[in-house]
Formats: sequence, structure tokens, C-alpha cells
Amino acid sequence: MTRGRSTTIGRLRTAGLLVFVTLLPNPRLPLLAQQATPIAAEATPPNSPATDPHQPALLAKRTAKVPILVYHHVSQTVSEGSPALRRLTVTADVFAQQMQYLQDNGYHVITFSDLADFFENGKELPSLPIIISFDDGWENQFDYALPSLEKYHYSATFFVVTNYIGRPGFISWPQLQTLLTDGMKIGSHSRSHPRLNRIKDSAKLWDQIYNSKAILESQLETPVEEFAYPYGLYNAKAAAAVKQAGYRAGRGCCSGIAHTSSDVFTLKAVMVPNDMEKFVEYIGAGGVRTAGTEHAANPSQPGSR
Ligand SMILES: [Zn+2]
Repeated sequence: MTRGRSTTIGRLRTAGLLVFVTLLPNPRLPLLAQQATPIAAEATPPNSPATDPHQPALLAKRTAKVPILVYHHVSQTVSEGSPALRRLTVTADVFAQQMQYLQDNGYHVITFSDLADFFENGKELPSLPIIISFDDGWENQFDYALPSLEKYHYSATFFVVTNYIGRPGFISWPQLQTLLTDGMKIGSHSRSHPRLNRIKDSAKLWDQIYNSKAILESQLETPVEEFAYPYGLYNAKAAAAVKQAGYRAGRGCCSGIAHTSSDVFTLKAVMVPNDMEKFVEYIGAGGVRTAGTEHAANPSQPGSR
């Protein structure tokens, strides 16, 4: 875990440096930065169920078992990188097998919005719902995962770091447009992939959370409703900011597939291994078996996210 995290950090730091050195100023950014406002100290969520007497059913805490798959690298062949990198890599073949497995076993791919609709409005979920997501915006996701997603008509959410878009090895703006055209969702993974739980300054936190959303929505002309915390790290302040910024869902740390309406901004995830047996075990955790549930619901964290 430690090695995986440090390797990823190193790569991201390198990428961050690249961005810092070479990214041309975007005339939109200063404007967006000026528009940023610090988070209100007391954020009252709109349409709070507790204050709506016409929707008493929503007062009940809802729960759902929905594996939220998280992929990082999708490679053409077995990775030759470090063990840490390999833990973050699924080959195109295994990815295709995993998508096939979902179809063969009755899973229904839904989006974060579907899950939010379930929690907020009681919209029914299909049987065996599952969410597919990709982190960091690596270009290999576009190259080697998209074909399988298209084949099975699955919609996945790509969480991108806005400062990295278009840099070598990362998905470009035109590729993001292609993803949208193909029915994919684009979510925010912050502006520069910091540890949000360590940011004390409210304006800096807001910049990472809100301005990344504003940049994506401005460039892509589509709502961006999902946020994934870099490294899966957050605190109460960061989660509140994600809600305040207008996202409908936030994906956090912690392995597991069971969610409640109170953690729609801190949803659990399943780090997908390059291994079919483990894949089946992880997404089935808590569903059928009881003896192995606890272990299966808490797979070891293969690297950072
Ligand atoms: Zn990440």
C-alpha cells in the first residue's frame, strides 16, 4: 500500500510539475478563480428531506449494495512496471472479461446519478446494480477500456484531474468529448490531485472542488455531478464542500459495496484487481455468502487511488 501510494504520488508529482512548467495560461481560469467563493460556514442542502413534510418516506435511511468499481491503468499487455504500478493496472483482456462477466451474471451498470436518485428520490435501482469508474484520466483508459465499454453499452464515469487534461499520457479535451458522445460520464478528481483532508484554507479547497467542476462544465458544456477524492482522502470539510459545490455524489475511501443515504458524498469503492477470481469475490461481497463477507468486503487496498 505504501509503495503503491508513493509511486503514484511520484508519478503525479511528475505530472504536476509538467503541468506547472508547461501548461499555458487558460484565459478562463482567472475568471473562474475570481468567481470562487469560500464555502459558507453553514451549508443548508437544498431540498433537505427533513424539512419537506410532503416526502416523509425520504426520512427513512436508505441502503443499497452497489459495487463501485475503480480502475486506474488499463494496459494493452501485462504491465512491466513496478509492483505498485501493476497493482493499479488491469489489462485490456482482463477488463473485457470483467465486462463480459457483468453481462453474463445479470449485473446492471448504473451511474452515480442513478444512485443519487435512489437515495434522494426513491427511484428504483435495477437488480444487481454496479457502477464503473476510472481515476486520474490516464489515456490508456480511453485506448483500452472504452472499446469494451462500447461493446456492452456500459456507461462509466471518468474522474479527471483538470490540470492534467491533454498532458502526455492523459486524456485530452477532444477525447473527453468522445467519451461523452459515447455515453460516458465525466466526473471531477480535483484540479491538481492534492490530499484534500490536509487543505486548511477554505478558498484553496473550494478551488480544487468547485473550480474543477466549473472548468469541466465550461469546456464540455455538460453537467458534472460526481466527484472522486484524490487518494480517497477527505474530511468532513471536504465532503461538505463537495455537497455545497453542487455535486450529487462523492466517491471516497474505504472498500465496501454497502452504502446508505447518509454517505452519498463519501461512497465506498472497490479497487479492481487484474484477476477474475478476486474480481468476482470483491463485487459479490456481502451479497450471497456470510462467512467470507467481512474479508471480501474489505479487500486489501492495492495502491492508492
Ligand atoms: Zn487519483
